[in-house]
Amino acid sequence: MVFLNLCDMNEIKPLLARHGFHFSKSLGQNFLIESWVPQDIAAASGAGPGNGVLEIGPGIGPLTAELAKRADKVAAVELDRNLLPILAETLAGFYNVTVIPGDVMKLDLPALIGEQFSGLSPMVCANLPYNITTPVITLLLESGLFSAITVMIQKEVAQRICAAPGSKDYGAFSVLCQYYGKTELLFDVPRECFLPAPKVTSAVVRLTPCPPPKCVHDRELFFQVVRGGFALRRKTLLNALSAAFPLSKEALAAAIAAAGLPADIRGERLGIPEFARLADEIKKDL
Ligand code: SAM
Repeated sequence: MVFLNLCDMNEIKPLLARHGFHFSKSLGQNFLIESWVPQDIAAASGAGPGNGVLEIGPGIGPLTAELAKRADKVAAVELDRNLLPILAETLAGFYNVTVIPGDVMKLDLPALIGEQFSGLSPMVCANLPYNITTPVITLLLESGLFSAITVMIQKEVAQRICAAPGSKDYGAFSVLCQYYGKTELLFDVPRECFLPAPKVTSAVVRLTPCPPPKCVHDRELFFQVVRGGFALRRKTLLNALSAAFPLSKEALAAAIAAAGLPADIRGERLGIPEFARLADEIKKDL
């Protein structure tokens, strides 16, 4: 079996032309054209024997092939039906890959894992379509199904995911990702590594799910406080929370003080323990 080099422009262009393929911007189609990138992403994912890897958006399959060399099984979900005949050709020699046509956001993930990864430890590795980055990462983290999630995304979003309290990139999405586990920004990938080249630099992040922080006692209320705390960015925490909760300013000011926080603090300075303490205090008034 001779495998195509799926990052070589001299092989990609005739392949796409033969199948009459046209890139779709709305599906976030930016394919890798530098072979070190899928190699390094697959290596960073930690995929190996005993793992079943869910890949989102295989494109023409360069990352799929790297994952299939390492893991016991790869299930690759692709929304664009025009890519299916191409994948059938490029992945023909990989007997541990199943391509699943469909939208990752509409999948029954527990069923997929049961069917595809029986006896294996499931993880995710993908070069994500930029238009669904936040919802898909949220879905994967909330599912609690994966031992690691390694994804290439826009660098700006990667920085938000890994940002520390008080930094300019820190926001509600940083708290969400850090609530579910460890976040690591691994390496940048320049625009020139893609066809077509996107407008911005990309970066690879690894999210390693951990048990939820013990300081959070009511998850739903905790995230309500986090969202409220960030909703009005240039306002104090007190003003932001007044807009988000049906409580008097006096009650909220007392909750902020009881949580041990300064009266004029802004939401972006709070880490998970501070948001958790505040949620506990607010709960007493609801
Ligand atoms: N993995 C390939 C690579 O690295 O060259 C392609 C990555 S490209 C950034 C994103 C891929 O996700 C495309 O193949 C696109 O068709 C697919 N895609 C977009 N939206 C999707 C969705 N909702 N579910 C599954 N795949 C999707």
